[in-house]
Amino acid sequence: LIQLAKKEQEKHKGEKIDAKIPYSQVADVFDKIESESGRLKITAIVSQFFLEILTQSTPEKLVKIVYLFINRLGPDYEPDLELGLGETLLIKAISECYGRPTTKIKKDYQEVGDLGLVAEKSRSGQPTMFKPAPLDIDVVFENLTKIAKSTGKDSQSKKIALINKMLTACKAKSSEAKFLIRSLEGKLRIGLAEKTVLIALAQAFVSYEAKDPKRISPEKLTQAEDVIREAFSQVPNYEEIIQLAYKYGVFNLLDHCHLTPGIPLKPMLAKPTKAISEILDRFQGEEFTCEYKYDGERAQVHLLADGTVRIYSRNSEDMSQRYPDLISIVKDLIKTQDGKTPSMILDCEAVAWDRVNNKILPFQVLSTRKRKGVDEKDITVHICLFAFDILFFNDEPLITKSLNERREIMHENLTPINGKFQFATAKNSSNLDELQLFLDQSVKDSCEGLMVKMLNGTDSFYEPSKRSRNWLKLKKDYLAGVGDSLDLVVIGAYIGRGKRTGNYGGFLLASYNPDTGEYETTCKIGTGFSDEDLASLHARLKPTEISVPKPYYVYDTTNSNAKPDVWFEPTTLFEVLTADLSLSPIYKAAHQEYGKGISLRFPRFLRIRDDKGIEDATSSTQVAEFYEKQASVN
Ligand code: ATP
Repeated sequence: LIQLAKKEQEKHKGEKIDAKIPYSQVADVFDKIESESGRLKITAIVSQFFLEILTQSTPEKLVKIVYLFINRLGPDYEPDLELGLGETLLIKAISECYGRPTTKIKKDYQEVGDLGLVAEKSRSGQPTMFKPAPLDIDVVFENLTKIAKSTGKDSQSKKIALINKMLTACKAKSSEAKFLIRSLEGKLRIGLAEKTVLIALAQAFVSYEAKDPKRISPEKLTQAEDVIREAFSQVPNYEEIIQLAYKYGVFNLLDHCHLTPGIPLKPMLAKPTKAISEILDRFQGEEFTCEYKYDGERAQVHLLADGTVRIYSRNSEDMSQRYPDLISIVKDLIKTQDGKTPSMILDCEAVAWDRVNNKILPFQVLSTRKRKGVDEKDITVHICLFAFDILFFNDEPLITKSLNERREIMHENLTPINGKFQFATAKNSSNLDELQLFLDQSVKDSCEGLMVKMLNGTDSFYEPSKRSRNWLKLKKDYLAGVGDSLDLVVIGAYIGRGKRTGNYGGFLLASYNPDTGEYETTCKIGTGFSDEDLASLHARLKPTEISVPKPYYVYDTTNSNAKPDVWFEPTTLFEVLTADLSLSPIYKAAHQEYGKGISLRFPRFLRIRDDKGIEDATSSTQVAEFYEKQASVN
């Protein structure tokens, strides 16, 4: 069939085959994926569908389909493309569209716990008076985008009108309504991880390009998967990747798909360690370097050839509006370049800075800065940018140069500006005592500890998006615990009593499982909160209360201890410390691996992590890694 379609396409080479793709086709594939649990089978279903689109339609359509599959509307770094509508609005829309009272919709929702299913059920009980045109993927994509972008006074009614229009056009005997509502909620929940989508894309392109799709070697597939993954970590933009792979062939993708100032790459991440000796074991015989680990906010600084400066967060969000003072600092930095504007990408930490005493201020001070509508002249908390890496300079990507070389390029070409732009303090050493002294010094200088990095050779290349063993973090305060703090999703709370009456007294936290899209409970936390913390958490979380737990929350339904008094939409991450981890009869983190879940013992609240997205929470696999490491040490 594919061969025939290809021949057909050859005949029409140059002409675009731009026929509409019914949304019901996408919903059917979602249904198939949802009822499948094997990773390989899911990948095969997705790649087969992508291949059909590639063969029969245009790359533009494939881009939209990929976004529908990952429940997004564009790259992470493009603003205002967030879905995630609240249940009240969706209940209203379903009620209006199908003419059923909201009380009934709510009752159904209490019973089945999934608004998608409630919409589907309401749809099927509805006689169709007239037949609107069926939904196609362009219409759905366009409407979802309008809904995401709609703001202001009438936005609520505009959103409901658009949702109504789409729901009315859903076919009676299909799952379109179910998946539309889930997409609008921002959680498709079909058990499809983004990494599976990348693998499926690679497979689809390999089959599309192969002379004989039946004779593709496993090596070829692996090679294509590596290429797509690598390309995506440098240019996290599906449109670019698909168009370039389509034009030049998937195996030539990396020749055309490079780091680009203006497109934030996924940052390299570090592995935690809980003892200096662990570092020496890891880097035995290799040259490594230690840098201060600054406690601020990660800032990927992009300087475009036309002089534009952009600052991106760890999470690829554009922070340029939030940090007008950083933009000025980078512009000052450029002035040190003899008037020439080199294009550039720097990896830095933005840290609060005391300009009177010339010293670093704690993260808590940085977090008091306004996040929106910042006017440079009103800024009271100043910032110093500590650069620890350079990834692109003068039109040249540098990530496949050694850290030593990258550092040299950074030091040769940029001149520090005291208290505004400085290089991360660093020391190359492999001596245990020296390391200990440097660690102590970093803490005296108001840092969190050290980052220890491979210095030379291919192991010191910058690895976008990877949590790499070539970067180790050594956090002074956490050496006594599991070596690191965890960032967990708040999914529920317990009503406060005594001194905490009127606020929540404790919270239920979960780790994220990116393979299933589920949040797995891992502890109840009630320690580490000041009275102010509790009051502001109450104000923040109260509006996110939901009447039933999300179907993708994994918790013990039989144990009242593991069930909170109220449930929340997943919106907030707590950074927490723990004394250690243990297997638990009631919590669920990594339960698929161990039969039982892993839970935190004596968890303690440190702070809210607003710089991370919910899906950047500590994963269940990471929780398992902490647990394993602890088991091997004990
Ligand atoms: P992770 O990034 O590992 O998920 P996290 O966001 O909680 O965890 P940390 O564990 O505190 O962050 O450590 C990594 C972060 O440390 C980086 O994302 C960066 O913001 C910061 N950092 C500070 N100094 C450095 C440095 N010299 N090199 C690399 N990162 C540094």
